[in-house]
Amino acid sequence: MPHRTIHIFRKGLRLHDNPTLVTALETSDVVYPVYILDRNFMTSSSVIGSKRWNFFLQSIEDLHCNLQKLNSCLFVIQGDYERVLREHVEKWNITQVTFDLEIEPYYKGLDERIRAMGQELGFEVVSMVAHTLYDIKTILALNCGKPPLTYKNFLRVLSMIGNPDKPARQITSEDFIRKCITPTKLAAEEYYRIPKPEDLGISKDCPTNWVGGESEALSRLEQHLEKQGWVANFKKPQTIPNSLLPSTTGLSPYFSLGCLSVRVFFHRLSNIYAQSKNHSLPPVSLQGQLLWREFFYTVASSTPNFTHMVGNPICLQIDWYKNEEQLQKWKEAKTGFPWIDAIMTQLHNEGWIHHLARHAVACFLTRGDLWISWEEGMKVFEEFLLDADYCINAGNWMWLSASAFFHHYTRIFCPVRFGRRSDPEGNYIRKYLPVLKNFPAKYIYEPWTAPEEIQKQAGCLIGKDYPLPMVDHKTASEHNLQLMRQVREEQQKTAQLTKDIADDPMELNLKHPFKNDKECGLENNKVKRRCLEEMTAEDGTRQSDLVQSLDPCEVKVC
Ligand SMILES: Cc1cc2nc3c(=O)[nH]c(=O)nc-3n(C[C@H](O)[C@H](O)[C@H](O)COP(=O)(O)OP(=O)(O)OC[C@H]3O[C@@H](n4cnc5c(N)ncnc54)[C@H](O)[C@@H]3O)c2cc1C
Repeated sequence: MPHRTIHIFRKGLRLHDNPTLVTALETSDVVYPVYILDRNFMTSSSVIGSKRWNFFLQSIEDLHCNLQKLNSCLFVIQGDYERVLREHVEKWNITQVTFDLEIEPYYKGLDERIRAMGQELGFEVVSMVAHTLYDIKTILALNCGKPPLTYKNFLRVLSMIGNPDKPARQITSEDFIRKCITPTKLAAEEYYRIPKPEDLGISKDCPTNWVGGESEALSRLEQHLEKQGWVANFKKPQTIPNSLLPSTTGLSPYFSLGCLSVRVFFHRLSNIYAQSKNHSLPPVSLQGQLLWREFFYTVASSTPNFTHMVGNPICLQIDWYKNEEQLQKWKEAKTGFPWIDAIMTQLHNEGWIHHLARHAVACFLTRGDLWISWEEGMKVFEEFLLDADYCINAGNWMWLSASAFFHHYTRIFCPVRFGRRSDPEGNYIRKYLPVLKNFPAKYIYEPWTAPEEIQKQAGCLIGKDYPLPMVDHKTASEHNLQLMRQVREEQQKTAQLTKDIADDPMELNLKHPFKNDKECGLENNKVKRRCLEEMTAEDGTRQSDLVQSLDPCEVKVC
């Protein structure tokens, strides 16, 4: 007997590579594609700024339009998640509920409650992997039930699995005509329409450079993939943090809401790599970037309190300063360091900044200059980034503050020299901080050193029109380095947990960590044996966790 199904869209706001929706369509004669907009649930785990709200609303609007083209539509139901789901299961005589698997604790909790509701009301629940490349549970199982805590060890485990699954088949209008229907007339009801920002009390604040939705995501993907040479040779550390247009793909906002499938991107990259003699490799290649994402998802999936310091077993426990005034200066782009303030301004204006720019401001806030907790920085990013992501954001903030994963803590980014290396003229600063636009290049990264005459000529007096630097970088960073050294001496055990042995992740010698399935089978036994040997070191620790990691994206600037 075919099902009557509610397919709940959560993050996977797309029709391509949507295995859960494909399953819903293949097992049902009626499918209701639904988005449950429960603002309390959505904001229970993160602060969502107005740009991200707008981007999200554009994305569900696009999803609705794409569904309409296939004779279906999106029902947006506002209200308490479980209450409105229960009401609609009963109202529409639902026998099956489908949704993508997510790994965050708040989704896991929700899923359990939906399953319990299914038992009570008599509907089946189907949920499948779509937001990550792999089923995270498989990775954990192959690593003795624990997450691999270093990128290298993570790659080793993946080499036992081989390539990620191929994307799901394309959904077409045939699916909604012959086999299965959506009662689209209902969707015309006011109750189910997609709200406008003003309905939600959100200002219409659309990011200029990013338009939300699957259609835009796919079009951007195609544009990138046309540049085969660029794709094949992509090396993250060689991309430029202060270019005026993104020097990386800029696809992160689309991955974050699942408007774009990571599996599709991964396999399209494999096709390009197959045609090129020498392509770049993880960790610096584009596939390597997707694997960083997967790495943080894997670690977050089974690390308690991953987004916090307290109660988080992999995170150094640090007595960070509580200084609201300094935090606000950083957040509001008023540090007095033009490079830092320009980045924070781009974050506010556009909702996206380059990875190395994120490095610069995160290091400045935490171990570099202000010694303020990474959790505070994470919350600010969460509010303003279009790509804000529970696992990736926390993972990277721990990395940058040297609280976990990153161990070359003596390397501190200089807020003057870092930006100057790739943009000596300061064009990026001129764009985002127009108050400084008339300063000569010589002074634009440290305008407080300019003679008064030059400041007058530039029409900007430092200390009056633009702030003086809020700290002396040399003194602050030297002091913080001593503090960090002490913390790491006292908490060696925790620091070891996420440390890699060799400096160069390329030493792994995984020329093609993702071989075809046949090659993979041959390789598996060798790799498995090596992994097992490592996992059973005498003292019970994994050797691969005792290695030193190098941030592949690090630029030695100090
Ligand atoms: C302090 C800090 C906070 C961050 N917070 C987030 C966040 O909330 N959400 C987010 O998506 N990224 C975050 N990143 C990671 C990274 O900066 C962004 O993913 C990247 O800059 C997005 O730009 P892109 O799409 O052009 O990346 P590309 O270089 O083109 O990479 C392609 C994709 O790979 C993934 N990726 C790239 N770098 C990383 C990384 N270091 N870790 C995990 N995944 C990665 C992203 O999904 C990205 O879209 C953070 C980095 C730092 C240093």
